[in-house]
Amino acid sequence: MKPINSFQISFDSRSENESFARSAAGAFLLPLDPVVEEITEIKTAVSEAVSNSVIHGYRGGEGKIYMECEYSSDGRVRISIRDEGVGIENVEQAMEPLFTTNTDGERSGMGFTVMESFTDRLTVKSEPGKGTEVIMIKKLDVGYAE
Ligand code: ATP
Ligand code: MG
Repeated sequence: MKPINSFQISFDSRSENESFARSAAGAFLLPLDPVVEEITEIKTAVSEAVSNSVIHGYRGGEGKIYMECEYSSDGRVRISIRDEGVGIENVEQAMEPLFTTNTDGERSGMGFTVMESFTDRLTVKSEPGKGTEVIMIKKLDVGYAE
């Protein structure tokens, strides 16, 4: 089914923009009149993806994060979060529960697992030195009528 609404934004790689991105997704999807739980899940998945770009992609330094979101009238939502940071050497390994490259004990290695469990489909495209794109698809239970 074709998307009926979409947005594209970019913002600086700063941890405070995690909450901006999650609110943007939540506000954009309101016309679908989704149930609170599903919106909370999407917002949490968006936060995890953005925090990964800030912390890992750009390692706390400067950079831009690109976010795209679209939905169709049947409640299918597609969200892409992309950075042009360091990229991931081994995507399969990175997506395993509890895998983290963080060494100071602050991260649990559960970000991708959370994104996976809160969406219907998670695709991670990454190239070392080029960046990472996380694409999440979730079908919301909606009563939207065109
Ligand atoms: P947590 O999300 O629980 O705080 P984490 O961020 O280490 O911990 P995941 O979000 O599952 O765990 O990510 C796993 C690993 O994948 C990270 O430790 C990092 O090495 C790599 N990674 C994830 N996203 C990116 C990204 N955008 N750019 C580069 N590396 C990434
Ligand atoms: Mg993470």
